[in-house]
Amino acid sequence: MIQNNYTKREFLKLLGTGSLGIFFMSFYSFDDFFEEDLILLTKKDKNYDNFRKSFNKRIDKYPQYIALCKTEKGVQKAIALATEKKLKIAIRSGGHSFEGFSNIDNGLLIHLGLMNKISWQKDNSIILQPACLLQDIYANILPRKRVIPAGSCGTVGIGGLALGGGYGFFSRKYGLTCDNLLRVKMIDYNGNIIDSTTDSDLLWACKGGGNGNFGVIIEMHFKTYQAPPTFSGYRLKFSNLTKEKFIQLIKLWFKSTENLPREAFSAFVLNGKFLTILFTNYQLNQDKFENYFSELIPLANDYKPMKERNLAAALKNYYGVKEPIYFKNASAGLYKNIKDIENGLEDIFNQVTSTKGIIYQINTLGGKINDIKSTDTAYPHRDINYLSELQAYWDLPSQEAKFVQTFETIQTTIRKLGNIKQYRNYPDINFPDANKSYFMDNLTRLQQLKKKYDPNNIFDYPQVIK
Ligand SMILES: Cc1cc2nc3c(=O)[nH]c(=O)nc-3n(C[C@H](O)[C@H](O)[C@H](O)COP(=O)(O)OP(=O)(O)OC[C@H]3O[C@@H](n4cnc5c(N)ncnc54)[C@H](O)[C@@H]3O)c2cc1C
Repeated sequence: MIQNNYTKREFLKLLGTGSLGIFFMSFYSFDDFFEEDLILLTKKDKNYDNFRKSFNKRIDKYPQYIALCKTEKGVQKAIALATEKKLKIAIRSGGHSFEGFSNIDNGLLIHLGLMNKISWQKDNSIILQPACLLQDIYANILPRKRVIPAGSCGTVGIGGLALGGGYGFFSRKYGLTCDNLLRVKMIDYNGNIIDSTTDSDLLWACKGGGNGNFGVIIEMHFKTYQAPPTFSGYRLKFSNLTKEKFIQLIKLWFKSTENLPREAFSAFVLNGKFLTILFTNYQLNQDKFENYFSELIPLANDYKPMKERNLAAALKNYYGVKEPIYFKNASAGLYKNIKDIENGLEDIFNQVTSTKGIIYQINTLGGKINDIKSTDTAYPHRDINYLSELQAYWDLPSQEAKFVQTFETIQTTIRKLGNIKQYRNYPDINFPDANKSYFMDNLTRLQQLKKKYDPNNIFDYPQVIK
């Protein structure tokens, strides 16, 4: 099935109103404007800003051209233009990069926002164009009683998510999003289409190391799985934490998550002196599931089980905000167990609570993700059970400095404890030796592949593989 095949009328609507259309007509001839394959925007175009802006309002970049591609040919034309004008290229699918890596000052932005078709295959696998948003994928596949293990935020693009890993509620059972890639298609710096069925390096690289590094991924073929009928969530809230209470609770949380079933997920979210712990589970006959965290329940100020909800309705709960916001989020270490941070718990608590608005979160990984060998995919962290992240959200640009400063303090604390492994999809511009942290021993092979696929370093962003 093909979704979102834009007609000229729909496209005009997408760009704004009829009067905006008239505005555009003054810059383009009708044929240019409705070019079948791509639309080129420059700073003069009224809509340039709409397509330029990222989900993270903190980061502003101004490309010389935005190539709004609609087809493979459009991507090839955009790359040819960049080559002719000697411009570097950044690539965007859903635009959710934490550090604005899907945009570029003075270069050419390949914007894939209109390439969002979903095509079902006879064997229940799906071929997705890169700008399919998670909420649209779920809306399409859940009614067919299928799932793919992907993230929870509805407006994240499958392109960036899968190319850097991709985890969520279903990952402990079915692996990372990238682990479920069967095939990819990429357009390289020369305009050549490379299909991973005849180039296995490409599939390896795109399983965790493909973000913006090698070329433009235009198609991703995924396995899907039978969806569970229901989904349960259990939320525990704790307030007015002291350092001692925090340490008691985090120890209990690590203990309660050690042996969770693969159908379960948990998050530990410290926001100032408030803590929220979430457990989810989609196993059937889960009467005894609460036993895993029975020691935490009596300590909570509030406990809300939401059992056996309709899956689609439950997932929508976690879609998050749709509109761009000011924020800084970053990976804050991948842990095997509590030992990786045990000696720094007091400092972490003091530093997180010193600046109102800083959130320290730890999510469960493990399960099926760790059944794969670390050299079998570009994503290397196959011995890891927990992913932690720092987050801060604000309303005014003037508030940024204090958050970024506290981030650095906490990141340094966590690093000094020996935690250098990081999740590529949660980048931090300030990581020392960032690519080593994301790819560990797989970095060398990725560097060789950069030479193979993009020898002139046309595809670029601040942490590109060199
Ligand atoms: C609110 C929010 C919630 C999130 N939740 C989760 C979550 O639950 N689980 C999780 O794993 N991650 C999550 N993430 C992180 C997310 O996986 C990354 O930000 C991801 O890179 C976003 O993909 P995108 O296509 O939306 O972003 P983009 O900004 O478009 O792209 C991100 C990176 O991928 C590259 N890229 C994008 N498309 C292509 C392509 N077609 N070919 C080559 N390179 C490409 C870009 O150049 C850029 O470097 C979340 C992020 C946000 C902002």
